[in-house]
Amino acid sequence: MSEFLPFTKPYIDEAAIAAVGEVLRSGWITSGPKVQAFEKALSEYFGGRPVRTFNSGTCTMEIALRIAGIGAGDEVITTPISWVATSNVIIEVGATPVFADIDPVTRNIDLDKVEAAITPRTKAIIPVDLSGLPVDRDRLYAIAAKHKLRVVEDAAQALGSLWHGKRIGSFGDFVSFSFQANKNLTTTEGGCLVLNNEDEARLAEKYRLQGVTRTGFDGMDVDVLGGKFNMTDVAAVIGLHQLLQLDAITARRHELARHYFGSFGAAFEQLGGVQLPLHDFENTNWHMFEIVLPEGVKRADFMAKMKERHHIGCGVHYPPIHLFKMYRERGFKEGMFPVAEEVGRRIVTLPLFPKMSEADVERVVEAVKSLCPASAG
Ligand SMILES: *Cc1c(COP(=O)(O)O)cnc(C)c1O
Repeated sequence: MSEFLPFTKPYIDEAAIAAVGEVLRSGWITSGPKVQAFEKALSEYFGGRPVRTFNSGTCTMEIALRIAGIGAGDEVITTPISWVATSNVIIEVGATPVFADIDPVTRNIDLDKVEAAITPRTKAIIPVDLSGLPVDRDRLYAIAAKHKLRVVEDAAQALGSLWHGKRIGSFGDFVSFSFQANKNLTTTEGGCLVLNNEDEARLAEKYRLQGVTRTGFDGMDVDVLGGKFNMTDVAAVIGLHQLLQLDAITARRHELARHYFGSFGAAFEQLGGVQLPLHDFENTNWHMFEIVLPEGVKRADFMAKMKERHHIGCGVHYPPIHLFKMYRERGFKEGMFPVAEEVGRRIVTLPLFPKMSEADVERVVEAVKSLCPASAG
């Protein structure tokens, strides 16, 4: 039996491990010079925009909403197909999440449905670039401008993605990234927020650390309610190292995704079998390779057989948020977002990470084909 192939694996090399060792020996292990250097490097990467780092990609979005002054009585529109963090942060700041259904091809929020969901109480949109495939930024910002809405881009999965040649994060309103272990760049846990100006950046620093401002040697004041969201130097040094490798990581992901398309073959999809992701080699960073199973194949059975028979790990990204108990208790129910519900029932993430081989891709495709005969759809 072949070795177990997980659906993802962080890319950590000996140089990153050595760099962590150095920080641990240095005597300064929490937020310090490495965090500052990482923020500077990220800001350069994003074309000079202000960037602040945090200990998760969840708090970055919560803090962006707070900076935008969004709270009780406000509505924020987002997608039902995301990690639940995306809508939890809306509730966390006291606002109301409003979902708009997804587009079945991109699996991202459908911008027509966003426009239809706007009310006088709508204050912001949180789009998600699922698998790293960007939401149409031209259309998104046209809608935001027309209705005077803030945007918090949940680009957690989209570091290294482009929108027609421009890096995601280098333009737009707030842009949030996650450096959680499964993301294309990881700091074990962490995240960063790209901001519009230095005033927002100063406010982000306060929300990040208990609302504290320091002056001189002994001056300290607190004027907003902040939390404890700072990144450590141990984490930042991993990020600094990974940022240097990001282009190579993205290029490798593109190669593997191309190999997936080639191995599945054009005929496979047309026979009514598995729905492959959008064939995009311009914009996405190929954070994930997600397929939608044919109607006749039960996902739990498929995943169990992939694991037990073929030693291949799969993921589910994601079940629809509005059908979770806490959201049902807020009035959401089955039938409200039919595309998201259908995709959420049948979507599966196949293995894709830089260190896997072309032979691994072929092994996955063979296994999928054996479990999803093209006639099943
Ligand atoms: C990973 C992820 C988050 C949350 O990031 P954390 O760093 O785990 O807090 C939010 N949204 C999406 C789409 C993600 O993939």
